[in-house]
Amino acid sequence: MNPMDAQVALIDQLFDAGLLIETGVDGLYGRSGQFEDVISRFDALITSFGREDKAEVIRFPPGMNRAHFEKSGYLKSFPQLAGTVHCFCGDDGAHADLLQCLGEGKDWSAKQEMSDVVLTPAACYPLYPMAAKRGALPEHGRLFDLMSYCFRHEPSRDPARMQMFRMREYVRMGTQAEVLAFRETWLQRGRELISMLELPFEVDVANDPFFGRAGRMMKNSQRDQGLKFELLVPVNSTVSPTACLSFNYHQDHFGQTWGLKTAAGEVAHTACVGFGMERVALALFRHHGVDVQAWPRSLRRVLWG
Ligand code: ATP
Ligand code: ZN
Ligand code: MG
Repeated sequence: MNPMDAQVALIDQLFDAGLLIETGVDGLYGRSGQFEDVISRFDALITSFGREDKAEVIRFPPGMNRAHFEKSGYLKSFPQLAGTVHCFCGDDGAHADLLQCLGEGKDWSAKQEMSDVVLTPAACYPLYPMAAKRGALPEHGRLFDLMSYCFRHEPSRDPARMQMFRMREYVRMGTQAEVLAFRETWLQRGRELISMLELPFEVDVANDPFFGRAGRMMKNSQRDQGLKFELLVPVNSTVSPTACLSFNYHQDHFGQTWGLKTAAGEVAHTACVGFGMERVALALFRHHGVDVQAWPRSLRRVLWG
């Protein structure tokens, strides 16, 4: 079987089992109750690993302030992934034109204008401006617990590469030493967590998909500096396993961008650990089968108690 066949096979298995529901757009799926139950049990397991840290819980909607998005630098690095929200802003005449275009199967986007909302590309993006607005960090910094649906324009038949998916994150803000210690802790916890799910994995240095020619240099420098690690599980292919967790050290990038300071008045450093909720659920179905009742008893105990 070539890798392409394997992709089709996994996604078709998931459709056939009713775990994912087709919408006609690659990367955009409905989820069954069973699929959501696995996601919520995994979510609870993450919470149990992080409980003692007493993170501040915040849930943002899956859209963010466009001005914050523009200032974040996302378009500089990942223009190919971004999704913006456009809305009809015309009068009766423009409405008639819209309906005519629609009826004739023509482009109806003429009176669509960019709104103040863009789709959230990663759960932590709306957080930094909000945190900076509170003023300097308290002593020992801050820790947040986030989860959001995220959008990335990367349509694929690989079920693990969705256009809309959930990302749970812990985000640490503080001194360099504090945020690096946080990342080390979660690198260890992540290994324990995925071991408890009885999944094969490896941890490796990684890079973000920076766009274009300038992006190549950024990819290399990110790897050389060890800024991003991923915990990879074979989901769609054993040759190129899927990043299910990622551990990112942003240095003072967001601190600089948002004017976020430590208690001592230095530019704050930040780091985040991201959990791909659907990817972990898919890894479980891929390795333990589409029938949850047939999963190993030990695993069922971990998830459902
Ligand atoms: P990849 O290298 O596979 O594209 P990434 O480096 O873009 O992953 P991050 O930007 O670190 O991933 O996002 C945090 C987490 O969100 C990832 O570890 C992954 O589990 C999940 N994730 C990222 N992109 C997708 C996607 N298209 N569909 C589902 N989950 C995703
Ligand atoms: Zn993040
Ligand atoms: Mg990616």
